[in-house]
Amino acid sequence: MDKDVPVKTDTPGAVTPPPAAALGAKRGRWAFLHSSTAGVAASPHVWRSRISWRIALTVFATLLLVQGAVLLFTVRNSETDLLDGLRAVASAGIGASLSYNEEHANAPMSKAAAERLLASSGITGLAIYDKNLKPLQQFGDKTVLMPDSKPDMPDAWRSADGMGFEVLFTPHDAGMPYYIVARIDSSGVVAEVGSEIRKTATILLLMSGFVTAVMMLALGQWLLEPIMLLRNNLLNAAKNPEKPDIQRLKKETRDEIGIAIRIANDLIRQNANNLKRLRSQAEDKIHKLAYFDALTGLPNRTYFLEKLDDHIRHKVVEEDRRLAVMSVDLDHFKDINDTMGHEFGDKLLEAIGRRLVKALPEDSIISRASADEFTIMVVLKPEYPDSSMLVDRIFSAMTEPVSILQERFQVRVSIGVAHCPDDGMEARQILKNADIALNRAKEEGRDTVRYYSQDFDLAVQQRFQLLRDLRSALDENQLQLHFHPQFDLRTGYLIGAEALLRWWLPDNSKEGGYFVSPAEFIPVAEQSGLIVPIGEWVLRTACAANKRWQEQGIPPFRIAVNISGVQFHKADIVALVADVLKDTKLDPKYLELEVTESVFMENMQTTIDILNQLHRQGVELAVDDFGTGYSSLSYLRQFPIDRLKVDQSFIRNALVNPDDRMITKTIINLGHSLNLKVIAEGVETNDHENFLKEEGCDEVQGFKYTKPLNMQKFIEYVVNYNREIAKKTKLAVVDEKSSA
Ligand code: C2E
Ligand code: MG
Ligand code: MG
Repeated sequence: MDKDVPVKTDTPGAVTPPPAAALGAKRGRWAFLHSSTAGVAASPHVWRSRISWRIALTVFATLLLVQGAVLLFTVRNSETDLLDGLRAVASAGIGASLSYNEEHANAPMSKAAAERLLASSGITGLAIYDKNLKPLQQFGDKTVLMPDSKPDMPDAWRSADGMGFEVLFTPHDAGMPYYIVARIDSSGVVAEVGSEIRKTATILLLMSGFVTAVMMLALGQWLLEPIMLLRNNLLNAAKNPEKPDIQRLKKETRDEIGIAIRIANDLIRQNANNLKRLRSQAEDKIHKLAYFDALTGLPNRTYFLEKLDDHIRHKVVEEDRRLAVMSVDLDHFKDINDTMGHEFGDKLLEAIGRRLVKALPEDSIISRASADEFTIMVVLKPEYPDSSMLVDRIFSAMTEPVSILQERFQVRVSIGVAHCPDDGMEARQILKNADIALNRAKEEGRDTVRYYSQDFDLAVQQRFQLLRDLRSALDENQLQLHFHPQFDLRTGYLIGAEALLRWWLPDNSKEGGYFVSPAEFIPVAEQSGLIVPIGEWVLRTACAANKRWQEQGIPPFRIAVNISGVQFHKADIVALVADVLKDTKLDPKYLELEVTESVFMENMQTTIDILNQLHRQGVELAVDDFGTGYSSLSYLRQFPIDRLKVDQSFIRNALVNPDDRMITKTIINLGHSLNLKVIAEGVETNDHENFLKEEGCDEVQGFKYTKPLNMQKFIEYVVNYNREIAKKTKLAVVDEKSSA
């Protein structure tokens, strides 16, 4: 039975139903209970309930037993009374027929008197004995009872079938000195007692039946129905604990069962309420988890997309309004996170979330779409009919530095904007377009906004095509290296060359193909990870070529190879360099690795470790495009570098823009103060060269000397140049000597 009872769970107040199998197993037994929920008053189940029958039969049997005992007793009494009556009649008859005189002492009853007596009194036989028990006379049937003189002698006898009844009259009874045994016909007594028994038994049976029936009804009404109702309620609660179908007694009673039912119903209701509450809490939690970002408390991308869908249907389609969808991305968040720590990064994101909420109209939906990207949707209104006003609000919200953990931090963001219905009618499409615009903003220098235009799409498509083509470029030998010589500014000697990647993409044109600019395909290679195998190919090819030139007798110079940040952080550059040097047998001092400034700022400690390992191998290290990133000069000391490469943009403008001129000077001085060589790239004119000479720059590279050349042309150039410079140097020596 215990198994039928709902099981208590750990949750306070919660009761869970028994397993379905258990319910199924009990269904047979409980089947009649199911059908009974409605008809409590009619109590039809009582006739089908085993317990009712058991109780009723017990009561019925008890009643019969008690009444049977009473019946036995009363039948006995009435039989005795009847026999006593017969005895009295016989006694009177005998008394009247008997006479005593001395003369006929041995025959106290005449034959005639005896015949009369036998005919009239029901006596069928008579035996007379004298006081010494000697038989004197015998009339009618033979008697069985024998008188004797013992004090406990029985005074009556009855045959087994009850028909024969004999009575003994002693001299005391008869008032004469005779013992008389009379056999009396008692068949009337048997018949009378029999009929009495039948009558009484019928009455008793009817009474027992009636009492039992009344009891069954009473049991049904007061005990069985309430218990079944209670069980039904428990069963319903077990089946459907949250919405149990609870029945109440038609007439509520205050007896023990009534109270038990009330308590059970209260418990079932409490349990249902608890379960409902728990479920709604769980649903709330799930909703929060599914739709909100735990860090900022802002909705997430899923929620945003659903709402955007809603807004498109209601605001755009039905109300003919316009929506601005903006993707806002924190510039350099990854670097900030890496250098300042995740706790700082989290606080920054929270702060940015708050600022956006504060800056934008109340009905805007602002969500955190990914790590450092927020997406915003605003229904444009007469107060702000144009999304540029909203963009301005976002930028001005970022002007004030954010204070976190006692640091003040200037945040910059890039924003991409798309509109609905202008740029699409489908939520995902619009969001994608805002992201495309955002990427544009990031590519075009960050800290800026771009509005989606369909040309962007085209550019994205072209990029995909480019990526597809690039995948096969390595296998199809479409990659080549060109070399751009570098010179010592003081001596004019060719001291190195930068290896620059070129991709010859064949097409159907007259030329049979064209060179894809590295500025175009390197970012794609970096994003797709293809830069890792491509970079390895560049390094191997450059080192092998340099070794070969040395073996051909060309005076040795170093070869500079560009290393992308992806190679630096996502591949084992240390092992690769060691492997390539070993394979090509190039002396490490003739290899220089150019790493752009931004790579230095990512993951500072790991970068220092890697650079140290590379430096220990003997290769030289240069910071490429120096001045364009935001390297912290104080860190520069910790990097084991040999060379700063001033970005060509400064050189190009140095002669026209005083700022760039100043920057170039500063970089040269800074490099020298850190004991580093400084090389300038982008030297195109004599003026450039003169300026750099004046400022004490060490080395140069630029179109003034030559454009980057393919391998064949480059080596011809080197041979030629060395010859020329040797000539010039000789002349100079001769000049010096002659003037001396
Ligand atoms: P970078 O490393 O700064 O390379 C110098 C770029 O400046 C080269 O462009 C070079 O041709 C150009 N340049 C040098 N002097 C002058 C000049 O006087 N005037 C002008 N107008 N340009 C000059 P390029 O070859 O188009 O390469 C562009 C960028 O592509 C490189 O900039 C480098 O960041 C990347 N790159 C090239 N080859 C590789 C490579 O093998 N691996 C990696 N990771 N990046 C590469
Ligand atoms: Mg370079
Ligand atoms: Mg450069």
